[in-house]
Amino acid sequence: MESSNNADEDHAIADNLEALWMPFTHNRLFKKKPRLIEKASGMYYETSDGRKVLDGISGLWCSNVGHNHPKISEAVKSQLDVLDFSPPFQVGHGLGFELANELIKVAPESINHVFFTNSGSEACDTAMKIALAYYQGLGEDRRYRFIGREKGYHGVGFGGISVGGIDANRNYYKKALLPDTKHIRHTHNLSEMAFSKGQPRWGAHLADDLEELLKGNAASEVAGVIVEPMQGSAGVIVPPDGYLEKIRAICDQHNVLLIFDEVITGFGRLGEWFSPDRFGVVPDMITFAKGVTNGVIPLGGVLVNDQVFKSIMVGPEHLVEFFHGYTYSGHPLACAAGIAAMEVYRDEDLLPKARRLEQELEHQIHTLQGEPHVVDIRNLGMACAVEFSSKPNQPSVRAMEIFQKCFERGLMIRYTGDIIAIGPALVASTKEIEFIIETIRGVVRDLA
Ligand code: PLP
Repeated sequence: MESSNNADEDHAIADNLEALWMPFTHNRLFKKKPRLIEKASGMYYETSDGRKVLDGISGLWCSNVGHNHPKISEAVKSQLDVLDFSPPFQVGHGLGFELANELIKVAPESINHVFFTNSGSEACDTAMKIALAYYQGLGEDRRYRFIGREKGYHGVGFGGISVGGIDANRNYYKKALLPDTKHIRHTHNLSEMAFSKGQPRWGAHLADDLEELLKGNAASEVAGVIVEPMQGSAGVIVPPDGYLEKIRAICDQHNVLLIFDEVITGFGRLGEWFSPDRFGVVPDMITFAKGVTNGVIPLGGVLVNDQVFKSIMVGPEHLVEFFHGYTYSGHPLACAAGIAAMEVYRDEDLLPKARRLEQELEHQIHTLQGEPHVVDIRNLGMACAVEFSSKPNQPSVRAMEIFQKCFERGLMIRYTGDIIAIGPALVASTKEIEFIIETIRGVVRDLA
């Protein structure tokens, strides 16, 4: 969509769009030159001015099976005529139990319980509350602190931004965060791992930060460690070989719960249902959202291992065990979408397909090495990122311009800082991956 040269017309657009305060968006700039999506199908969006835009980022890492999948749409439509809503407190509905059972079938063996939320943020805050409740159940009520990682993103609740490590998301709220939360270092290091394909070989030793924070008596106050197995929002930061294994071992040694935030990495993004099948490291809890319903209806949740669940299911049976929940936890429409989406992942063999496509994506994205201003390319599963040097005194402007130009040329990607991220649906074709890479190449060259 081109902006008008006519100041009155631009102003008229701004007035019309002013009522909506857009999340994580530069509202004033956007409204001068809006990008409005009207329709979607498969790998493509259609804009309000009728242009096709290839979705190179699965919506927001969620539309993993492509948009408007008929099976999921049909499941939601027919559920709407049967049960629109029922409260999740003190009554239940079959779909919630059914989806929970489907989820534990694909979760690690030790994980057999699901608590539903509506989003990834709620899932992270819920997992943190479960960790606190777990230690209360064990009589260890001195454990109240959490450890996260720099550059981590765990949503926008107060729990999530306390353990999260993206400064911009915390700066306004610093004084109001959870007390005494600590962060281990991130693993992003261009001089040691630039242009790694898959897991970098350097960096496992960075997990020793956790040992430093837990040693002595410190662990007796810590309830949990939360990390994204692969950091997504900070720009696809892939865990070094051996790093997650070390994190798990240190948590075990100090009897601290380990939470994997798999809001992005779950549901095929790494070619598996969840990351333990990829990395062989099993956490105590897994948070999920996004791909569980293919983004069609909001749904998130926490997968919880037997040990944690059992420690909380105690006390007189007429008392609520865990004082927590959301009006829309496990909404019937969301569960219908989730059950259908899981069928699609299975019926269309999308996880093995993602493992095959990963090789194509890896090969193609790394052909951008040597293009102007490219300082790193990294990838794992159906996720990759290209990092650029910043424009002098203008951090993040280069990636923003690349994002904007790509959109004009029919490609949607994401950017954060001077990094662009790509995460196509698992149904992408080789030609579509080629289009993504060649569009980025053209834009980067033209802007150089
Ligand atoms: N955790 C991770 C790893 C995420 O990537 C996100 C969102 O991108 C969230 C949590 C928050 O999810 P939501 O936006 O659904 O609250």
